[in-house]
Amino acid sequence: MPSDPSTSLLNRASPGHRYDVAILGGGIMGSSTAYFVKSLFPASDVCLVEPDPTYALASTLRASGGVRVLFSCPENIEMSKFSRDFIKAFPTTMAVAGRDAPVDWVNGGYLFIVPPAHMGLLEANFEAQQRHGCEVEFLAPEALKARFPSMEVSDLGGGVHSTQDGWCDPNGLLQGFRRKAIALGVTYIEDRVTTLVRDDRRLRKAELAASGPVEADVFVNATGAWSAQLCEQVGMPLPVSPLRRFEHYFTCGNPIERLPYVKDVDRLAFRSEGAGFSGGLVDGDEPRGFNFDVDHEYFERVVWPALAQRFPPFESAKCHRTWSGLYEQCELDGNPIIGNWRRLSNFYVVTGFSGHGMMHAPAAGRAIAELIGHGEFRTLDLDRFGYERIEAGKPYPERGIV
Ligand SMILES: Cc1cc2nc3c(=O)[nH]c(=O)nc-3n(C[C@H](O)[C@H](O)[C@H](O)COP(=O)(O)OP(=O)(O)OC[C@H]3O[C@@H](n4cnc5c(N)ncnc54)[C@H](O)[C@@H]3O)c2cc1C
Repeated sequence: MPSDPSTSLLNRASPGHRYDVAILGGGIMGSSTAYFVKSLFPASDVCLVEPDPTYALASTLRASGGVRVLFSCPENIEMSKFSRDFIKAFPTTMAVAGRDAPVDWVNGGYLFIVPPAHMGLLEANFEAQQRHGCEVEFLAPEALKARFPSMEVSDLGGGVHSTQDGWCDPNGLLQGFRRKAIALGVTYIEDRVTTLVRDDRRLRKAELAASGPVEADVFVNATGAWSAQLCEQVGMPLPVSPLRRFEHYFTCGNPIERLPYVKDVDRLAFRSEGAGFSGGLVDGDEPRGFNFDVDHEYFERVVWPALAQRFPPFESAKCHRTWSGLYEQCELDGNPIIGNWRRLSNFYVVTGFSGHGMMHAPAAGRAIAELIGHGEFRTLDLDRFGYERIEAGKPYPERGIV
């Protein structure tokens, strides 16, 4: 057997073979699902279909790596708690053949800052986070200034600092899940799903571009920003759109104290990265679509003024690189969709994470594995994230800063 399972065993579909579970899409969500299905149900026969082992356009490789418990919905807080612990232990838990699975975890903390008008919401979220046992501290403007002297606080009502949060390397996380899933016996098929074939109540097979078809008892759509396209083929409405977001690597240009991952209500978000910083400012009004073009003026026009207003040392900031990636944006409420559709009961979706999919991938993978294997969520009750709310058109919104 080759020594590095992540670069081997790229298979074609085997005609006539029927899997227990076929996972469509092999980014962080698909690979986490593959790992959890196989580790919770070792006897299951699992395949995963992913066209691009380099993940050139996948959202996962473009993510900023942030992991935080700063949410309003109990489900999101609990998913973060599980995922954060899982990521911290990842290098050893996910080791394969004595080789660690590094994810470069930085326990740098997270800081949400808000103007006075948002204080009610910040306080309500803070209380929810405390009820869930999170290590959070409330900081009034004077305390923020004392802790982070470079910060302009005159227009702020306060902030919440989460000391055990941080960030990691998204590629390390993805490769670790993938390597471990393959080591446990998951078959990674290098191909693209072109057509889903259903009968009245069940999904029968997935036709692939170069090989196939793949037949299975259960299918999981984990194709992220592309997930609505596959659902559309079987008549399942999925309000998930590709939303372009820029990420920038920049340097400050002046000395500045060590900062946590900082986020504000205008959706400015950044963290340190080596000698500089990685971050951006999400434009929620961005036209939806598969657009990877990079606007090289965006940093100077939008991000830099916001940065320099909040932290004056960034007046001399310099942007070194900008890249674009896609959020799999849930247009109904900004929360994930984890579950199946009663009209096609063996077809599951795990998508719509709207900017927090990397951090929630461990919890989401475990949840969908439980749903498939046990018919119910066992460790975290995620029923409110199910597909029923989509069918009913009833939003369950996340009210933290997203
Ligand atoms: C700039 C940016 C910053 C972000 N920062 C953070 C962050 O700090 N923290 C955080 O938690 N999240 C962050 N996110 C969000 C996070 O990256 C996503 O939520 C997460 O990566 C989604 O994972 P996924 O596996 O669903 O999607 P992807 O990683 O996109 O994987 C989907 C896979 O499906 C495959 N696929 C597509 N079509 C087909 C098909 N027809 N057949 C088979 N396979 C197919 C694709 O090739 C792809 O590999 C960020 C996203 C962006 C863009």
